[in-house]
Amino acid sequence: MLNKMTVDDIQVKGKRVLCRCDFNVPLKDGKITDENRLTASLPTIRKLVKDGGKVILCSHLGKPKGKVVPELSLAPVAKRLSELLGQEVKFAADPEVVGPNAKKAVSEMKDGDIVLLENTRFREEETKNGEKFSKELASLCDIFVDDAFGTAHRAHCSNVGVAQFTQVTAVGYLMEKEIRFLGNAVENPVRPFIAILGGAKVADKLNVISNLLEKCDTLIIGGGMAYTFLKAKGYGIGTSLCDDTKVDYCKEMMEKAEKLGKKLYLPVDTVVTAQFPDPIDAKIETWTVDADKIPDDKMGMDIGPKTRELYADAVKNAKTVVWNGPMGVFENPILAEGTIAVAQALADTDATTIIGGGDSAAAVNQLGFADKMTHISTGGGASLEFLEGKELPGVAAATDKD
Ligand code: AMP
Repeated sequence: MLNKMTVDDIQVKGKRVLCRCDFNVPLKDGKITDENRLTASLPTIRKLVKDGGKVILCSHLGKPKGKVVPELSLAPVAKRLSELLGQEVKFAADPEVVGPNAKKAVSEMKDGDIVLLENTRFREEETKNGEKFSKELASLCDIFVDDAFGTAHRAHCSNVGVAQFTQVTAVGYLMEKEIRFLGNAVENPVRPFIAILGGAKVADKLNVISNLLEKCDTLIIGGGMAYTFLKAKGYGIGTSLCDDTKVDYCKEMMEKAEKLGKKLYLPVDTVVTAQFPDPIDAKIETWTVDADKIPDDKMGMDIGPKTRELYADAVKNAKTVVWNGPMGVFENPILAEGTIAVAQALADTDATTIIGGGDSAAAVNQLGFADKMTHISTGGGASLEFLEGKELPGVAAATDKD
């Protein structure tokens, strides 16, 4: 399905290979607090090292916005990667990324050596896909490998620009895996195919709702976005989150579902509170009410027990499930029950279960269901745009196979 060159199609022995990874890991006091993205990048790095490439790694970290922010240096990543790989990952500490340290380190590399460049977003051209920085990156290598699925929805120097100035661009194993799972689920799903969408706002997921409605057999809606749908049904939703400008859109989607003969599930009951918890994990009083009986002074914060059962039941006979967005304010344990119930239902089914990145991935990891899912995407925005049916610039930039 993916007609792009992969790391299995290239000869890297003795060649300088620039490999764009997604090392955008959360850091606290200089320590990496979640290293999923590092572990996810290891198969490609190991393959390039084993085949005798001179492996030059690069990535962005956080949002330094073109300035050198010492707390966002990739130095801690070099250290941790060295431990994970069992070999030195030499860190080229150039604030300009491609500077004297990087050039010297690369010129001294032997086959199988690894060098990591500094945070690509220290350069302000990076996010503007500026030609100068793209050329500088390309000058360090003979072959470019892109394994950064998390940034594939952006056209930046270090994933798209650099590819214009290198002869060959291949995708890495992580990128290949993400595209295989997400692509198969959406374009060629084993049916019944159920899509579950949640999260805060309808507005953020307009195209996802519309695209998935066409592809899936059943669409399940939960989270903050469900209340705009409930309003579109004519229900009072109290002080729940609502995109007033999207009420008509929700009506359209309900009509579209009916026209296409698709099932569209909305909450039948909901857990409400008097206000949004502050701090987010505050002990908070809740009530459960039917979806058409939300009091004027209450806000819906989670799907209720009847809805949990309904959704879990719907998932039971699925063969493919794609889930993006929590069912409620899962960061608060009192309001996480709906998200837990859906995660449990996915864990219990034999279906291929695919979790979009971002908050859904965080919820599944945080609630302890990670090893029960077939695939958890490493890219929030990228997986969302993929589910919208868009072509990702980071994928398009890779060299075609024939
Ligand atoms: P998203 O980034 O769109 O996937 O949204 C995730 C966020 O939506 C999480 O931080 C949740 O706390 C929040 N969320 C989920 N359900 C609700 C709700 N009913 N009201 C307000 N926020 C919600």
